[in-house]
Amino acid sequence: MPGIADFIVIGGGIAGVSVAYELLPHGSVIVLEQESALGYHATGRSAAVMTENYGTPIWSRLVSASRGFLENPPEGFATAPLLTDRGALFLAQAHETGLLQAQYDALVARGARVELVPAADALRWCEVLRPETFAAAMHEPDCKDIDTNELMMGYRRGIRAAGGVIATGARVTAIRRDAGGWQVDTTAGAFQGGTIVNAAGGWAQQVAGMAGLGHRNVLPFRRTAVTFDAAAGSNLHRWPMTFDLAETFYFKPEAGRVMVSPVDMAQTVPCDA
Ligand SMILES: Cc1cc2nc3c(=O)[nH]c(=O)nc-3n(C[C@H](O)[C@H](O)[C@H](O)COP(=O)(O)OP(=O)(O)OC[C@H]3O[C@@H](n4cnc5c(N)ncnc54)[C@H](O)[C@@H]3O)c2cc1C
Repeated sequence: MPGIADFIVIGGGIAGVSVAYELLPHGSVIVLEQESALGYHATGRSAAVMTENYGTPIWSRLVSASRGFLENPPEGFATAPLLTDRGALFLAQAHETGLLQAQYDALVARGARVELVPAADALRWCEVLRPETFAAAMHEPDCKDIDTNELMMGYRRGIRAAGGVIATGARVTAIRRDAGGWQVDTTAGAFQGGTIVNAAGGWAQQVAGMAGLGHRNVLPFRRTAVTFDAAAGSNLHRWPMTFDLAETFYFKPEAGRVMVSPVDMAQTVPCDA
């Protein structure tokens, strides 16, 4: 019966479909997604780059651990390469050069390829920079663009090919536990599972609450991104993903335009951002 599985994964973003895929060898899997399509929320709105030098140290270690799969996915997983060259550039002001050096040392220790240069030299990667604002730059050539659509489709194909079920339009509304395991009510009917995986992203606390669990320290934040046309004649397609160390901006080429974010993180309620 399709409504019963060993594992019920709540959330059809990158977290949900990737964990569902990895669980396939261990039992039957059902993914429940409230929207009509996978990847509708954070997953469909990311800048889609893989860099080993962004966010907390644990993020960087997770990226390093994921690199092998993304570079060499299993046979038949994807119909196109998941990664293409992008490069990343990190810009430090004079008072931040010690921090940049520390990041450089940590990356080298992990085996990442990185280059430290005076800020003026960074113009060779991105000609629109104003190097007088910065003192130093670090270039990470192995930062890649991720084809997030292909990645999501690869997981979807893999789950379905192995007999897994992906139910969209299935918003979980109630969860309870009885002798038969976890009973999960959704807008697309009832499901039953031995183990539930909470991959509900910004809604993780709500889902935990339905299952009778206490506070989970997973909080939704909103981040802004805008796109606009680059100046005529620019080498846009060659620009790396460019960050400042103080995290007041990043920008990159995105579908023939410039995508820029002020790297804001405004706490919010889970919603269609
Ligand atoms: C502007 C921006 C740029 C980013 N850039 C990058 C980047 O360059 N590189 C990078 O690695 N990361 C980036 N990220 C982060 C990345 O997008 C997220 O870490 C990732 O998408 C989170 O995936 P998720 O599956 O946890 O969440 P989501 O994609 O939000 O998935 C959670 C899913 O759970 C579903 N759900 C919630 N409640 C229920 C329910 N009750 N019943 C059923 N389904 C439910 C939701 O509908 C949703 O589809 C960026 C994020 C933003 C916002």
